[in-house]
Amino acid sequence: SKSLREEDVPFYRHQQRVVLAYCGLINPEDIREYFAIGGYQALADVLTRYTPEEVIDAVTRSGLRGRGGAGFPTGRKWAAARRAEGEPKYVVCNGDEGDPGAFMDRSVLEGDPHSVLEGMTIAAYAVGAGHGYIYVRAEYPLAVERLKIAIAQARQHRVLGQDIMGTGFNFDIEIFRGAGAFVCGESTALVRSLEGFRGMPKAMPRPRTTEEGIGGKPTLLNNVKSFAYVPQIITRGPEWFASMGTETSKGTAVFALTGKAKNTGLIEVPMGITLREIIFNIGGGTSTGQEFKAVQTGGPSGGCLPKELLDMPVDFDSLTSAGSMMGSGGMVVMDQDTCMVDVARYFLEFTVNESCGQCTPCRVGTYQMLKILEDITQGRGKPTDLSLLEDIGKAIIAGSICGLGQTAPNPVLSTLRYFRSEYEAHIGEKSCPALYCKELIAY
Ligand code: SF4
Repeated sequence: SKSLREEDVPFYRHQQRVVLAYCGLINPEDIREYFAIGGYQALADVLTRYTPEEVIDAVTRSGLRGRGGAGFPTGRKWAAARRAEGEPKYVVCNGDEGDPGAFMDRSVLEGDPHSVLEGMTIAAYAVGAGHGYIYVRAEYPLAVERLKIAIAQARQHRVLGQDIMGTGFNFDIEIFRGAGAFVCGESTALVRSLEGFRGMPKAMPRPRTTEEGIGGKPTLLNNVKSFAYVPQIITRGPEWFASMGTETSKGTAVFALTGKAKNTGLIEVPMGITLREIIFNIGGGTSTGQEFKAVQTGGPSGGCLPKELLDMPVDFDSLTSAGSMMGSGGMVVMDQDTCMVDVARYFLEFTVNESCGQCTPCRVGTYQMLKILEDITQGRGKPTDLSLLEDIGKAIIAGSICGLGQTAPNPVLSTLRYFRSEYEAHIGEKSCPALYCKELIAY
């Protein structure tokens, strides 16, 4: 009988797997399987043939931008950490993935932990660090377990720890389990949490963590996927990586495709692919037979994009200019039965609960917006509520000191921008054009 090949399955045919290439194919608990696919060859090359500056140059030329959400150029960050004065230096992997519906980092840590360890070790050589931490959510016990096994096996095979591969280079990694606060994904909050304090972002102006991180020492902090790309950038070359994607967003992007798509799961696609290709070619359209209505990217920090934007390229800059953002990679598909006001309320409730509370616009403003949205969804909305939501949203963006507050109003502002008539129907007609909550309001 004919065996099924990946390219025969629409879900895989349109993907380009780089960081997910070996997830599910190799045994993550056996380092020999990682060696067998060429693992740690990049580290060997770097330690024997590259200067630290050449490594940073390769990462810079690849065009890699941080995959944690903000998209800061990785090579520039590494160069800043190399230049920073102070000893010791640290390398930290941010695995504090907390967006609802997002499980990209978790899958990489569980499925291919050595790619992250190798990327971190290459980064340590480049910036001059001797110690690293992987900050991973305590809610990811399998990822923690596999990292423990991977670290122990890497030390045993001398690709981590003292005198790596006999080159005299020393670098070791510890696992730090976060306690589940979404705000600890922010760099200064993560560093505070690592230091044993409550995870709260530092007030502005603040030095970058590359200059003052753990214990006031230079600290390079990157996302799980950012590190996992590095070994392949070294072995296949920065030009190979830069050949994928768009002018300003190179490489691939990993998304957790969820919601009302027919095919859901983790996907990896070249930057610049359109929303339509992702949702219809890979996702297979909606699972309900209803017409596609919107897609939410970037989780609670992002926005809802309507069907008119289906042909928009998916990259850092296009998503931001449309009022959403790449975020760490959540992508939720919605159909005609989805109430957009309720979607905005759901995401805002999440940020209200996760706000650390230290700045007033974020703490009080998001709560006020939530109360207004609750009123609207329950048939108590007033015509003035819409401009009030916009004014409070803008004030929160302007007055918050960290990314959580600065992006918290995005789900509300984007739905107001693209689905205003739904808000107006809730307020003016006390009903919702999306079927399921029409009854709620009538009741
Ligand atoms: Fe805390 Fe919100 Fe201020 Fe960020 S914006 S520091 S989460 S209160």
